[in-house]
Amino acid sequence: MFETAIAGSLPKPAWLAETEKLWPQWKASGAELDAAKRDATLLAIKTQEDAGLDVVGDGEQARQHFVHGFLERVEGLDFEHKVKMGIRKERYDAMVPQVVAPLRLKGRVHAMEAQLARKHTKKTLKFTLPGPMTIVDTVADRFYGDKVKLAFAFAELLNQEALALQSDGVDIIQFDEPAFNVYMAEAADWGVAALERAAQGLRCKTAVHICYGYGIQANLDWKQSLGDEWRQYEQVFPALAASRIDQVSLECYHSHVPPQLMALLAGKDVMVGVIDVASDDIETPEAIADTIGRALQFVPKHRLFPCTNCGMAPMRREIAEGKLRALAEGAALARQRYG
Ligand code: ZN
Repeated sequence: MFETAIAGSLPKPAWLAETEKLWPQWKASGAELDAAKRDATLLAIKTQEDAGLDVVGDGEQARQHFVHGFLERVEGLDFEHKVKMGIRKERYDAMVPQVVAPLRLKGRVHAMEAQLARKHTKKTLKFTLPGPMTIVDTVADRFYGDKVKLAFAFAELLNQEALALQSDGVDIIQFDEPAFNVYMAEAADWGVAALERAAQGLRCKTAVHICYGYGIQANLDWKQSLGDEWRQYEQVFPALAASRIDQVSLECYHSHVPPQLMALLAGKDVMVGVIDVASDDIETPEAIADTIGRALQFVPKHRLFPCTNCGMAPMRREIAEGKLRALAEGAALARQRYG
């Protein structure tokens, strides 16, 4: 009961990449960088195991950014001529690659991290990929001319990699779709369908993570503008409840999401965010158990999985590690209280 996991990313060590950045520059190149990525992946798994988490992942140590890590292996994208684009409804500017030709995978994307992780942990292994709708919102399309067509083209490629990850021994494949909280009507209209295309044929568990973003300033400012009640999930959850996706990861602690919206996910596993990634204060086990208690009003015990609100990539390492330990301790306390 209350098996713990993180949303996905962990801070990168200072010897691997610039710290406290969402788009960090690598510290090495070539074979040296490949070795550093492998070392950091092992370290991320060990860190999660030592903290006492039940489900572990690669900490996204081998990708520069959660979307571009995948895109770097896609043919049909022009990375040489990136353009500045306002993403997530102009919330912030990013330099994004352009889609200039039919999309195809150049080969495997995450084989190294997935196989290495599988070899070195006996715990349940979760692996994250960006969702098709969020990818579409992070590239400049000069070829397909239609968002839905482009999303399904990416979904096909994601599906290829997801099936291969499953063969690598991954237990849970999670697609990250922060864009679902920004384009709610489109998410319900075609975003969930594109997600299901990405997950087609998978026999392992499938999950989607929908959040209000990393703890960067642009996101903090955006959250300020959302008012007292954040009801974005209300439009998307019914479509997800009707989908074939098994698990939904959502933001809860310190958010203004009305907890009763979790009831819209009846029949799904719910990864409840009990750790705030936008604050450096480390949650107490009591606060975490309290959050789990509030969620239990709307999610049955056997479907509740305590998680972080979002990834921890831009965080200080020691803070993130403290939060991982708190997550495990808080879940243990909740087992005593509500078990
Ligand atoms: Zn997130």
